[in-house]
Amino acid sequence: GAVLAFGLAACSGDGAGSSSGESGAAEEGTGVIGVAMPTQTSERWIADGDAVKSGLEAAGYEVDLQFGNDDIPTQQQQIDQMINKDVDLLIIASIDGTALATQLQAAADADIPVIAYDRLIRDSENVDFYVTFDNENVGVQQATSLLVGLGLLNEDGSKGDATGPFNVELFAGSLDDNNATFFFKGAMKTLQPYIDEGTIVVKSGQTSIEQVATLRWLQETAQKRMEDLLTSTYGGGSEQLDGVLSPYDGISRGIITALQNAGYGTTIADGLPVVTGQDAEIASVKLIADGTQFSTIFKDTRKLADQAVTAADSFLKGEEPEANDTESYDNGVKVVPSFLLESDIVYTDNITELLVDSGYWTAEQVESGQ
Ligand code: BGC
Repeated sequence: GAVLAFGLAACSGDGAGSSSGESGAAEEGTGVIGVAMPTQTSERWIADGDAVKSGLEAAGYEVDLQFGNDDIPTQQQQIDQMINKDVDLLIIASIDGTALATQLQAAADADIPVIAYDRLIRDSENVDFYVTFDNENVGVQQATSLLVGLGLLNEDGSKGDATGPFNVELFAGSLDDNNATFFFKGAMKTLQPYIDEGTIVVKSGQTSIEQVATLRWLQETAQKRMEDLLTSTYGGGSEQLDGVLSPYDGISRGIITALQNAGYGTTIADGLPVVTGQDAEIASVKLIADGTQFSTIFKDTRKLADQAVTAADSFLKGEEPEANDTESYDNGVKVVPSFLLESDIVYTDNITELLVDSGYWTAEQVESGQ
């Protein structure tokens, strides 16, 4: 399981603890904060939940942390209960970003500020702030790593030696998650010139997000779609497939299982297509170390949690949190002021530098994949 260095980051510098500036200890926060996370089936959300909770507690707040089990009514009820309990602020990573308008109206009526966490909540004016990563750039990084894996680019961004053409298939995340659209947009903007010139061929012809989406980001759903694609388009695994754009490590592992079962090889060195990812989940980091998955995107959830704590603390002390983006995230009703963090591409050769040296995973965890 995930054993990350939770909590420490919240006390060390730009976290909530330092908001009073030079003059000594920050004023302790008081109040209860409701934190709604989507699921425990993916380790990043467990890590996010733990990091937000410990950061808020370190800043003096009480925390009601709930996981929604990837079930929309469950999450709606959890948020209703938090509002009924009269929490002072809500931090929400939504399951379906379009399904919370009623809850957010109730929160606004009760003067409870709402921070959207990682995933934008749509179709509501009652989203006060958004902390996330630069999601379109995550998609650019995913596609860039695919191009590197195919040899069309080098890791430093220069042109690679390969010429192609390469057969590639595309996967996207869950359509009810605003992020899925941003990841796919960034990825397609990067791949389109190669598709236009014929260097990359999407043999199935499935290139729209509706055709390639994966409801709830489920590994099994992705594995099934990959199996179907191999049957319909690649002679059941006998024909050339060079790469697969995958938006999330769980999806990547489903794709890789389908490819291995169809006989493409165990590792990239013996013929497995290049598969991308996201989240630096430990099982995928090990696959990358072993040369099985090609890449992932590292989004440091400790930093995101830190930003959520900082923003919550600002609201509860009567200040506006500091945004670094006020134009990218229109939720259908308004542009939500946002704080965006940067992400990194992980390849075999920078696992240690990015993930071990930063204390996100230990060398033993990378070795064992757990
Ligand atoms: C997050 C990704 C994650 C995906 C599936 C997205 O909203 O931004 O980090 O891989 O959900 O959980």
